[in-house]
Amino acid sequence: MNQNARRALVVGGSLGGLFAAHLLRGAGWNASVFERNEEELTGRGVGLGTHPQLIAILRRAGIAFDETMGIRVSKVVCLDRAGKIVVEQSMARTMSGWPRLHQALREALPARDYRLGKRLCRVDQDEAGVTALFADGTRERGDLLVGADGVRSTVREQFLPQAQPVYAGYVAWRAVLDEAQVPVEVQREIFELYTFCLPEGEQLLGYPVPGRDNDTAVGRRGYNIVWYRPTNPVALADMCTDVGGHCHAGGIPPPLVRKDVIARVKDEAKSLLAPQIAEIFLRSEPFFQPIFDLESPGLVFGRVVLTGDAAFVARPHVGAGATKAAIDAAILADCLRDSGGDLQRGLARFESAQLPFGRDLVALARRQGVYLSAQLKPDDERSAEERTRDIDALLHAHGTRSDQVGEIVAARGLDAHF
Ligand SMILES: Cc1cc2nc3c(=O)[nH]c(=O)nc-3n(C[C@H](O)[C@H](O)[C@H](O)COP(=O)(O)OP(=O)(O)OC[C@H]3O[C@@H](n4cnc5c(N)ncnc54)[C@H](O)[C@@H]3O)c2cc1C
Repeated sequence: MNQNARRALVVGGSLGGLFAAHLLRGAGWNASVFERNEEELTGRGVGLGTHPQLIAILRRAGIAFDETMGIRVSKVVCLDRAGKIVVEQSMARTMSGWPRLHQALREALPARDYRLGKRLCRVDQDEAGVTALFADGTRERGDLLVGADGVRSTVREQFLPQAQPVYAGYVAWRAVLDEAQVPVEVQREIFELYTFCLPEGEQLLGYPVPGRDNDTAVGRRGYNIVWYRPTNPVALADMCTDVGGHCHAGGIPPPLVRKDVIARVKDEAKSLLAPQIAEIFLRSEPFFQPIFDLESPGLVFGRVVLTGDAAFVARPHVGAGATKAAIDAAILADCLRDSGGDLQRGLARFESAQLPFGRDLVALARRQGVYLSAQLKPDDERSAEERTRDIDALLHAHGTRSDQVGEIVAARGLDAHF
């Protein structure tokens, strides 16, 4: 630890917090991460797309993006209800997993700088520094506090209570199945493809990811499914209610999803999905996440800064949540490094770069989810774009997600940082 370095308190020990800690350390700061969970997070999480900026920033954090980090797919297809390929395009992407990235970032940080069981309750600040107050009664003092505490951020709630996530009108059912449990003929036919099923008004995609223990060896991988389903707020409230009658409004933890809710979605999978995908889904233990848009009107509050999902949440269609958290961390570290010790100047630069970047990403992802959001409107109130979808264009948009994110990065002049 550098005794003379300034200290950053990073709240949240997921990908955003880990990226911030690594890159601030690289810029000469001492950085400690405080995560509310008592236990290691590495076991949770599912599939995750990658972008070149994510790979570059991992390298900057000292983590090589080798073949153990993900599974390469080279083709995207759309299956009809009978399981026949109706559209096929080439596509080069590496599909990784949240646990794989988390493990790599976590292991590369000294254990003493990652503290579990630290739930932030409040932040106090004065001329000389910032204090984080935790639920266990302890407090920590630093020069800067990074709120990397996700879509329901405690830090944002204190400084920007008016910035709330807005429900997009649909949920994502998520499932992962071990490759060994996938029926042999299904494995042979679709396992290595990026596969769409498009029931009327809905959208499902599936792809291979690293398996248990982040294994990428054939036979030990996982198959990841994301199934977007329009769900009105009343039905959502029921789905988010546990057996004890408690409604988890922002999203119910996976183990608490009621059995009847899971039985219903599995029934619907049988009648709506291509049989290969249904076979996988029926063997899995699915859970769901409501989809939200979140835009913060400001990112800096004295010595406090928001990054990652605490600042902006773009719908998953551009697959850029982890990439955005990494970009935020890189820009923050660079702005602070280049501000010659003037913290407020560095933070002001960060905010002026990352506010428009976050807004652009949210807008891009919202456009790609417009068909799904519109399903809750009466048919005669929907625009042509909201009523029909072009399957070729949809697959093409997925295949070129990195170009779209890259265009925003370049348009905002951020590419010089990677
Ligand atoms: C359906 C779906 C699919 C997705 N697919 C992709 C994809 O393909 N690619 C991609 O890049 N991203 C994807 N994402 C998004 C991605 O998971 C996140 O955007 C990314 O991990 C960055 O998040 P973060 O670290 O800022 O916040 P989070 O991952 O939400 O982490 C916040 C952390 O803060 C902790 N915390 C919260 N409150 C406190 C507190 N008071 N005190 C201390 N700790 C606290 C939490 O426990 C948590 O560990 C997807 C999301 C969804 C919903």
